[in-house]
Amino acid sequence: MRMIWLLTAATVACLLFLAGGYFNKIKKRIALLGAVICILVGGGFLLLAVLPGNSFYGKVLYRGTTKEKLVALTFDDGPYPPYTEQILAVLKEKKVPATFFLVGENAKAHPDLVREEEAQGHLLGTHTYDHKDLLRLGGPDIRSELSAGVKIVEDITGKRPIFVRPPHGFKDFAVLEQVEALNLKAVNWSVLPKDWTKPGVDVIVHRVVDGVKPGSIVLLHDGDSPARKASRQQTVDALPTIIDQLREKGYIFVTVDKL
Ligand SMILES: [Zn+2]
Repeated sequence: MRMIWLLTAATVACLLFLAGGYFNKIKKRIALLGAVICILVGGGFLLLAVLPGNSFYGKVLYRGTTKEKLVALTFDDGPYPPYTEQILAVLKEKKVPATFFLVGENAKAHPDLVREEEAQGHLLGTHTYDHKDLLRLGGPDIRSELSAGVKIVEDITGKRPIFVRPPHGFKDFAVLEQVEALNLKAVNWSVLPKDWTKPGVDVIVHRVVDGVKPGSIVLLHDGDSPARKASRQQTVDALPTIIDQLREKGYIFVTVDKL
């Protein structure tokens, strides 16, 4: 069932309540109350689809349940030169494993970077083939977005990715049904420093370091999809300090499969 149908049903029910009140079929107070409840329910369905931290529509890993100080850094939308190389250099120097959610067409354009991520021991997942909003697609198109994203990573590395991050973290029943049908696991996040808004290196560092708890999954960006225009220099520059400060707080970095 699509989130959009739930929204449509809530809207229709809301209109029926309002019409019932207008034509005196039901008491106006009941009509108003019914309409407000329908709006709240519809809004709730929408929020549950677009907010990353819930499993309402199906299983989504958005943080680990561990009490140990484990944290997973994840990087979306790449590979994207020169930022992916710079992030890989920092991770290598600091000996930090991370998880990269690759956009298929970027992986196709930069297979050398995908192989480098793999060679350095990072975990690779798919972020679909070309970063379409899956809530707007029908089941067959969702499936082909996911399977094409999986295939390109498998073609380059010889390993089939098992983790997927839906674009924007958006999901509903249909999206997560296709994720499961392809034996994939959906991964969102629990710490969102909004690095893509370029708020400044210090702000990115503080948002991550202050937000991390045991089992946190941090969303950062090495890429910019589908536009492939924006700089990711702030993310690159924030990364060494994020790693150092989290280590000072006793955190150990892991890939999302270890959470
Ligand atoms: Zn993305």
